[in-house]
Amino acid sequence: MEIQRVGVVGAGTMGNGIAHVCARSGYRVVLCDVEQRFLDRALGTIGKNLDRELAKNKITAEDKAATLGRIEPVLERSKLAACDFVVEAATEKFEIKSEIFRDLDRTCRPEIVLASNTSSISITKLAALTKRPDKVIGMHFFNPVPVMKLVEVIRGLATANETFQTVRDLAVKLDKTPVEVNDAPGFVSNRVLMPLLNEAMYAVMEGVATPEAVDEVFKLGMAHPMGPLTLADFIGLDVCLDIMRVLQDGLGDPKYRPCPLLIKMVDAGWLGKKSGRGFYKY
Ligand code: NAD
Repeated sequence: MEIQRVGVVGAGTMGNGIAHVCARSGYRVVLCDVEQRFLDRALGTIGKNLDRELAKNKITAEDKAATLGRIEPVLERSKLAACDFVVEAATEKFEIKSEIFRDLDRTCRPEIVLASNTSSISITKLAALTKRPDKVIGMHFFNPVPVMKLVEVIRGLATANETFQTVRDLAVKLDKTPVEVNDAPGFVSNRVLMPLLNEAMYAVMEGVATPEAVDEVFKLGMAHPMGPLTLADFIGLDVCLDIMRVLQDGLGDPKYRPCPLLIKMVDAGWLGKKSGRGFYKY
């Protein structure tokens, strides 16, 4: 079945990026959130990001207008019934995603693939909430979506090959590079990245080096575009802590113990860039 209309649930940081790349690639997009102001904010962000592409001559003014024209912002989830593929990018809470998946399973045609952009929730568990576990899969984009090439495609235990191929082909059409992984806590990206960030925090906590020094080591010695503590501040320290807890609970190895300094900073409300203070001040 050819995909013409893509549903995106959640119009935040990731949802607006996913809507952007789908619409830019010619798909019609139904973008759904719970409040009009979130939809307005998303369309504003997409407009600004398209302007950036226009300034770099990556697209024309007509492309921008056509891309925006292909996005239909909606509050009623029932409008997703017309979609040929749905990707969920709502808030990272199991209760929120489980309600959405149950509802999508009722709303969308039975042959439609339901994907989740979750960073850490089990795809197998989301799939089990539906009557189509073979058609549920992880489609993990990276931030900022219009720029980052990777899509980590996560097979749940019951995911069918056909579902995997649908997502792989869609990712390629969006000009992304799909990489296949199996469902496990943190998948590959966060399972490897988060312990690195956590260990960098231990180095700071133990007085091995300042945040600036740790970041310099990674920028200059490992050619990382930003150091681990800057990256942690950008991701959000609360998000980092949540993911470390998913790794700790899911894998049970003490090496995934969240750094006590990370816990203390989150308790203090120092959540990184979004709160104005993390390992750095913003
Ligand atoms: P965000 O907070 O920016 O956006 C989430 C959006 O979902 C909000 O606009 C919220 O109103 C909406 N939402 C909440 N409940 C909803 C519902 N029932 N129906 C429709 N919309 C609903 O979050 P985000 O950073 O965009 O993250 C979204 C997902 O993407 C999460 O699962 C997260 O783990 C994952 N993710 C995030 C990043 C990142 O760097 N931010 C990277 C990869 C994956």
